[in-house]
Amino acid sequence: MPSRKATRSSQLSTSAKRFREAQRELQQVDYFLKGTVLKRMMKCGQPQCACHYDPAKRHGPYFEWTYKVKGKTVNVKLSPHAAPLYLAATKQHRKLKATLARMERLSRTAVAQLATQAEQAD
Ligand SMILES: [Zn+2]
Repeated sequence: MPSRKATRSSQLSTSAKRFREAQRELQQVDYFLKGTVLKRMMKCGQPQCACHYDPAKRHGPYFEWTYKVKGKTVNVKLSPHAAPLYLAATKQHRKLKATLARMERLSRTAVAQLATQAEQAD
């Protein structure tokens, strides 16, 4: 059985190690954009067109990037060539947010442990 003190310091090194790993992940982050890329199939303005009765014959795909600014949704139309770039950037943003949330949790543990150690050092 390890002593309480040894257990604490090994927990600290685990969160410190995970924190360093997350820092390295941050360095790998590429361009990022908040929001979502949507792929839509649309009906056209011609009432006799097949798209109005057969969902498989709708036009498109049309791509749109949507995000919020101060609670308002902004829609940006994207060309088929632009869509994968925006999609990749929105994925980077989700990954970045997940990494930051993980770093915050690890920081909570690590800082609390450092504080306990500082108190015990007296
Ligand atoms: Zn149509």
